[in-house]
Amino acid sequence: MNYFNYQNDHLYCEAVPVARIAEEVGTPFYLYSNATLTRHFQAMDDAFADLPHLTCFAVKSCANLAVLNIFAKLGGGADIVSGGELYRVMKAGIDPARIVYSGVGKTTAEIEMALTAGILMFNVESPQELETIQGVATALGRTAPISLRVNPDVDPKTHAYISTGLAKNKFGVPMEEAELLYKQAASMPNIAIRGLSCHIGSQLTEMSPFLESLRKMKGFMTRLAAANIKISHLDLGGGLGIRYDEEEPPHPTAYAAAIKEELGDLDCTLVLEPGRVIVGNAGILVTRVLYTKASPLKKFIVADAGMNDLGRPSLYGAFHAIQPVHREGTATAKADLVGPICETGDFLARDRELPLAKGGDLLAIMSAGAYGFSMSSNYNSRPRVAEVLVSGSRFQVVRARETYESMVQGESIPAWPETIAR
Ligand SMILES: *Cc1c(COP(=O)(O)O)cnc(C)c1O
Repeated sequence: MNYFNYQNDHLYCEAVPVARIAEEVGTPFYLYSNATLTRHFQAMDDAFADLPHLTCFAVKSCANLAVLNIFAKLGGGADIVSGGELYRVMKAGIDPARIVYSGVGKTTAEIEMALTAGILMFNVESPQELETIQGVATALGRTAPISLRVNPDVDPKTHAYISTGLAKNKFGVPMEEAELLYKQAASMPNIAIRGLSCHIGSQLTEMSPFLESLRKMKGFMTRLAAANIKISHLDLGGGLGIRYDEEEPPHPTAYAAAIKEELGDLDCTLVLEPGRVIVGNAGILVTRVLYTKASPLKKFIVADAGMNDLGRPSLYGAFHAIQPVHREGTATAKADLVGPICETGDFLARDRELPLAKGGDLLAIMSAGAYGFSMSSNYNSRPRVAEVLVSGSRFQVVRARETYESMVQGESIPAWPETIAR
């Protein structure tokens, strides 16, 4: 359920016509609905209301400060994967005691920053990382709270690039090695064991991989308890899928019910790291059609947004519904929706029945809130687009469109006198 709906054939975000924002802000732009973000966060958080739990939004899915601030106000925490994300969540007002830090490549500087901020725990992904955290904590005279991210070797049945919990993936510590690593952690003077974590993948549409992984984690906790290692926080990661096309992922309520049943009366705080399920359908990308053209084999709609603005179709072959901002009839034609980037892989939809669109028309790329703007780049020297947040009948640009000047900010031409002789 989201708040992007038609009224008299005009697409609205809550009470604001999308076309009006396009007039004022220009295109392309990302558009987020406050009511949808709030609703989706609460659906997840409320589903676990009867258990001690913490909903840590996965920042990499959508990192805008205004979006993070909505979750801060709702009492949310954050799952971060870099120092840059830590900087953002602190600026957005998220309580450091509600931050978990995941990722295989944390640098010394990032560890220092997180330790000083006082985060809930580091989700440690290797023995060497654990050593490094111990070293940094000693130097700072602090104790570092940690969790080990184990790799449960479960097939999440999703796209290969977003599977993370298989033995062949780079993430986590194999369960067989994790017990020894916990024992080593327990003997380190500046390490405090707090949690056990996993995250098996993204855009999961079935419960069984989550439950299989949870069963393995529970069995593992029993072994740890026998070794006198107490876990206070069980972090189940994120990964719950959304509907882009015909998928029918479990609703957060069903997800929570199945997890609670499998969990039994385990005595610890649950940590959840949802990203996509909260923001995915709370955001769209709005683009204007520049041209249409036809080759002997195909029709193309050329839009002003491309793979640098939304990379998912090119990267994962992902499906995004394409809707006209002004609906004139329901006629469609088979075509590719492509961007201006000089790459054949630059498409937003390929070989699809698309709304008949002509130059000047606005199109909405639906379900673009997650891994949309946050994965965008300046490729082809295209300034990154604006981000806009709607709340009721108001809207605000929450990230200005980059200018050519801001795009080259930080670049310089050396003042060396000599030219290279040729
Ligand atoms: C990406 C990621 C998430 C969020 O995944 P979603 O599919 O967006 O819910 C959660 N935890 C970790 C460790 C991640 O890397």
